[in-house]
Amino acid sequence: MNLLVIGSGGREHAIAKKLLEGSQVEQVYCAPGNPGMSQDGITVLDISQEDHESLIDFAKKEHISWTIVGPEIPLFNGIVDDFQAEGLAIFGPSKAATQIESSKAFAKELMTANAIPTAAYQSFEEYEEARRYIEKGNIPVVIKADGLAAGKGVVVAETMEAALEALEDMMLDKKFGDQNTRVVIEEYLTGEEFSLMAFVKNEKVYPMVISQDHKRLLEGDEGPNTGGMGAYAPVKHISETVVKEATEKILLPAATGMVRNGTPFTGILYAGVMATDDGPKTIEFNARFGDPETQVLMNRLESDLADAISAMLNGQEPGLVWKQEGVSFGVVVASKGYPEAYEKYRPLDLPVITKQMNLYFAGVSETEGKLVSNGGRVYLAEATGETIEEAQEAVYSALEAVDTSEYVYRKDIGNRAVVNTK
Ligand code: AMP
Repeated sequence: MNLLVIGSGGREHAIAKKLLEGSQVEQVYCAPGNPGMSQDGITVLDISQEDHESLIDFAKKEHISWTIVGPEIPLFNGIVDDFQAEGLAIFGPSKAATQIESSKAFAKELMTANAIPTAAYQSFEEYEEARRYIEKGNIPVVIKADGLAAGKGVVVAETMEAALEALEDMMLDKKFGDQNTRVVIEEYLTGEEFSLMAFVKNEKVYPMVISQDHKRLLEGDEGPNTGGMGAYAPVKHISETVVKEATEKILLPAATGMVRNGTPFTGILYAGVMATDDGPKTIEFNARFGDPETQVLMNRLESDLADAISAMLNGQEPGLVWKQEGVSFGVVVASKGYPEAYEKYRPLDLPVITKQMNLYFAGVSETEGKLVSNGGRVYLAEATGETIEEAQEAVYSALEAVDTSEYVYRKDIGNRAVVNTK
């Protein structure tokens, strides 16, 4: 099989690398990919993820068996619908089904209609109404831009001032675009957060092991939300009972609800879940693999990823087998300034990795044969260890040995697992 991965980040690097291990896989292409991926035998293509026509031409010409989509933007642009209209196999949700991620209001309505546990909320199109609602309500409060915002459209406001400022940014100053001024205002939930993803085809749901992301920029979960600064899997201090409850009360009814809605879902369904004292509650849905969770999850999969997706596309069981032993752990190295403005094309002193480690590249480009930074999140260093401490030691000692003065990374990724498993 020849396969095509759409996207250019660390998530796509990890997916493509795992696909290449498949027993029936010859070539894995990634469009547009990034030059860091070539080191692992992935063929990167100079085709934009927005250029559906050229991607379709390529898939036809190269006899691509099927395509998988990493990021949300092409899904939102209807890439799945466009490929299917040309008779090409593609693993991902239709534009209509992508609304589970691309509209917070759509997701909230789905949850209400299917009794899926989530934070109490209200959505607003009028600034004055939203302002009055916040002023009357409790603090902390969570303000979310309705549409896509690259993981940065959520503000957890600890003060009334911060809440009103976030509202002004989104509704009056249109921080996330003219078409993205609707907001969802949500009750603040407390508890331990985890990511629960599953391979889904219509009502069929096949969960992965759970993982934990670190959304905040700074240590101690301080600072602004980012696309994610590091992750590990599995999360042993969250009980099987909670995970089972989340699967049954969140993922399964979401999949059936989508079918009932007339927007059946195929692809990877991701639930961001808070384990609260009242049981697991949904924080958000994504319509694709998480980034950086995927970079630690791919190593947990013992079975063949390409075979699993082929099976899903044919309506068969994916036969997923997950590693029982050890922990996979990854730290994101980001450009200084991220998630706001940052400098590009800075030199990269890359860590030396062992056999138990991987580097997954994201915001990089090539200058004179050398990789340089070209984005917010630049790469993720991943290690598998018998324990979380062992994996942390492998990644952090590799990072400490190189010059990262132009970059930032969190030194406390996975610490919650260390504390909770003592
Ligand atoms: P989202 O993009 O919806 O996942 O939100 C980003 C992050 O904001 C989440 O991972 C949570 O840490 C936090 N967050 C979102 N919604 C809530 C909520 N209702 N209560 C507490 N924290 C939240």
